Amino acid sequence: MTILNAEPRPPLVVSYGVGIDSTAMLVAMYLRGIRPDLILFADAAAEKPETYAYLPIISKWLKKVGFPPITTVRYEPTRAPYSTLEGKCFANETLPSLAFGKHSCSIVFKAQPQDRYVQSWQPALDAWAAGRKVIRAIGYDNGEQDCRRRAKADRAVEKKAQAGHKDATRYDYWYPLQEWGIDRFRCLLLISHVGLPLPTKSACWFCPASKKSEVIQLRDKHPALFWRGIAMEDRAREGKHGLRSTQGLGRTWSWRELISVNALAVVDEVETLRP
Ligand code: SF4
Repeated sequence: MTILNAEPRPPLVVSYGVGIDSTAMLVAMYLRGIRPDLILFADAAAEKPETYAYLPIISKWLKKVGFPPITTVRYEPTRAPYSTLEGKCFANETLPSLAFGKHSCSIVFKAQPQDRYVQSWQPALDAWAAGRKVIRAIGYDNGEQDCRRRAKADRAVEKKAQAGHKDATRYDYWYPLQEWGIDRFRCLLLISHVGLPLPTKSACWFCPASKKSEVIQLRDKHPALFWRGIAMEDRAREGKHGLRSTQGLGRTWSWRELISVNALAVVDEVETLRP
């Protein structure tokens, strides 16, 4: 592993999403004797209850294996009258930006709070003062989809470097699951191997990337959250901007449609099985 070989080893920061991939990344590091220096969880106050319930479980395991505890970071408003993504959507009568094909929701509520924390974290300040970089470990697995995400992230980093962005001299991004050839299935095996239960898929419960079947599942398991999503969608549709470039929280479909059309969940499942 070349990125960790420098002496002294650069500070290693894990972006922990409390999902399957990033949990497997922590397990894989442990099994290879690599201890991160900082484990950051960006809480947009919108994870599913199962994800929050997993935090004490993984925290206990981290303590057992001698890893640092999870540091939770959050969006901190300067002037905005909201502190959560759901609050922002309600205040602005809109939907998370992903519903419009943009990514500012994850940048503002997940990436920036982590950046802000690292920027005042002493080991990072010391490394930068000594002309060294901080390593940021990202839990993309070795499957096709995450390899595409990685390629996109690499292009963005390259673009920043060409533009002379200061991050280019501050961070190296490391994708351990891809380096070690660990796909989604192996992630599941790794987590089970150390006796941990499997975490649920982590994402905001109203994430526009959710499949119809996942929304139906939310409706059945957490009806109050499902109805909050419907309320968010209705408010955006009837609000001052309306919904012109998107149908709703599903982008090409709305959660409201799902209220009476359970069969769509089956269609969704069948679609995912197509070769
Ligand atoms: S999980 Fe989805 S809605 Fe939440 S910040 Fe990320 S992209 Fe946006």
